[in-house]
Amino acid sequence: MDKLVSLCKRHGFIFQSSEIYGGTGSVWDYGPLGVELKRNIKDHWWRVMVQSRDDIEGLDAAILMHPRVWEASGHVAGFTDPLVDCKTCKGRFRADKLEDARCPQKPSKRPGEWEACALTPPRQFNLMFKTFMGPLEESASVVYLRPETAQGIYVNFLNVQQSTRQKIPFGIAQIGKAFRNEITPGNFIFRTREFEQMEMQFFVEPGTDMAWFETWKAERMAWHLSLGLDPDRLQYHQHTNEELAHYARAAYDVQFDFGGSLGFQEIEGVHNRGDFDLTRHQEYSGKKLEYFDQPNNRRYVPCVVETSVGADRVTLAVLVNSYREEIVEGETEGRTVLGLHPALAPIKAGVFPLVKKDGMPEFATKLAADLRSRIPVFYDESGSIGRRYRRQDEVGTPFCITVDGQTAVDQTVTIRERDSLRQERISAASVSEYIVTRIDR
Ligand code: ATP
Repeated sequence: MDKLVSLCKRHGFIFQSSEIYGGTGSVWDYGPLGVELKRNIKDHWWRVMVQSRDDIEGLDAAILMHPRVWEASGHVAGFTDPLVDCKTCKGRFRADKLEDARCPQKPSKRPGEWEACALTPPRQFNLMFKTFMGPLEESASVVYLRPETAQGIYVNFLNVQQSTRQKIPFGIAQIGKAFRNEITPGNFIFRTREFEQMEMQFFVEPGTDMAWFETWKAERMAWHLSLGLDPDRLQYHQHTNEELAHYARAAYDVQFDFGGSLGFQEIEGVHNRGDFDLTRHQEYSGKKLEYFDQPNNRRYVPCVVETSVGADRVTLAVLVNSYREEIVEGETEGRTVLGLHPALAPIKAGVFPLVKKDGMPEFATKLAADLRSRIPVFYDESGSIGRRYRRQDEVGTPFCITVDGQTAVDQTVTIRERDSLRQERISAASVSEYIVTRIDR
C-alpha cells in the first residue's frame, strides 16, 4: 500500500487533502490522472447500469435533504458505530472492529490486549455530519450531509416513475457524494469521511424480490469482473444474522482481496430491503408512495433490491489489482506497471519522437494532436525512449507510439503494447483506429 500511495502522489493520481496545512483527516483529492481513472470507472457503471438498459433511470438528487428524511430512514436513531476510547493512549476505536485494530503504543497487540490499555465501555456515535441551513444555528435549522445517496432515490420514487411512465420492475440509479464521520477512517481511500457512491434501487413486486436479489447479485459480480479485477481476488460474503439490518431480507457483500493486513473487504453491498424504505417514507411524509399496477387494478408498496458500491473503494481495488513490479527479460532494471484495463486507463497512448531531430518531434506532435480529438494521449520527448516507456507503464498507459527514422520514409510508426511489450509497425494513419478498437469494450 505504501508503494501505491507513493506512486499515486508522484504521478498525480491522488493527493492528501490540504496537504500544505498538514492534511485533513482521511480526505483525499484526485489529481489529473486520478480524476480520469475514477471518472472512467463511474462512466462504465453509468453505461452498464443506466444507459444500456431500458428499465433503469438516472437521477442526481441534492446532498442536503429535509431532516425528516433521516428520521424516516432510521439514520438519526440508528446510524451509529460503537466507539471505545483508550484512557492510556487516547486512541479511539470501533468496538466491533477491535480485531482489525492495533494498539498505537504496542502495535503487536490489539487495543485492550496489552496490560496498559484502559478501554472505556462502548458508546454509540452517530456518523452523520450535522450542519445548519440558513443564518441561524439553532435546532430547527439542523440539516445533515447525506451519509448515502439512496434516500434521494426513495423520496423521488413516484416523481421518476410517473414522469418516465416506467412499469415495475424498474430501477433508479445515482452517483454522488456521501459523508460519514467514520471513527476509524484509513487505509488510503478505502475508508474516508467524504466519498462517492454509485447506488441503484430496483423496485419490484413483493414476492419477486428474492429472485431479483439473486439476479442483481450475479450482475454486480459480473461488473466487477468486467473492470479486470482478478476473479481469485473477488468473493461474496453473506451477511450473518447479526450483520443483517432488522428490515433486510437478505444481504451479500462483494469483497475484494486488498492483500496485506486488509485482506478481503467489502467493496459493494447488494441488499434485499423489502418494503421498509418506501413504507417508512409514507409514514413520515404522510404521502402515499404506492405503485398502481394498472392491468391488475391494484396498488402496492414495492420492495427494493439495492446495489451500493463505493467509487473510491473500487478505484483502490483497481489500483491494487493492477500494480505489479517485474523483471523484463534481457534488462537489468525492473519495471513497475499499472496493468489497468485499457478502457479505464487515464491516458490511452504515449506519443514519442525517437530523437529530437530530423522532423520527428514535428511529426509526433501532429500525430498526438490528431489522436487527442478521439482519445486522451500524452506527448513526451524528454529523456531516453526507455525512460519514457517506463513512465507510461507506471501510470497504466496501454500503448506507446514512437516516431522514428523510418516514419519519414513510409509514414509508419511503432506501437508498443504495455503488457506483452510487443512492438508492431503500423501506418500512422491507422493508429487512431487501432487503439480505439482495442480500448472499447
Ligand atoms: P463498512 O462496513 O466498510 O463501513 P458499510 O457496510 O457501512 O461499509 P454501505 O453502507 O453498504 O457500507 O455502503 C456501500 C458502499 O459504499 C460500500 O460497499 C463501500 O464501497 C462504500 N463506502 C461506505 N463507507 C465508505 C467510506 N467511509 N469510505 C469509502 N467508501 C465507503
